[in-house]
Amino acid sequence: MSNLRDLKWSKVIRRRDNEKCRWCGRPGGSVAHFIPRKRMGVRYVLENGWCACSDHHKRYDKSPKFRKLVIKILLGEVTYYNLREVADGKKDIGSYGFTEVDCD
Ligand SMILES: [Zn+2]
Repeated sequence: MSNLRDLKWSKVIRRRDNEKCRWCGRPGGSVAHFIPRKRMGVRYVLENGWCACSDHHKRYDKSPKFRKLVIKILLGEVTYYNLREVADGKKDIGSYGFTEVDCD
């Protein structure tokens, strides 16, 4: 279930990525979380999302192997590690210069 903040997060990322899937370049109507959205500490962090076409979003959700590849190539392992630290509550969002969308 999405709230207004989720929608805003998604909109900002789609605009940032020019509404194109970052994996294949086709029109991308959705945004996937690198670290799952249930991890509230990074749910609204802009660096934690990438614009995806429906095919690649599905593949990303279903295939751990593909997810690992996407994280390595689109995000980078260092940034992934840093996001994980924020998600785990070991660091603040500001520690690595991440930004998140606000509530309104
Ligand atoms: Zn795609």
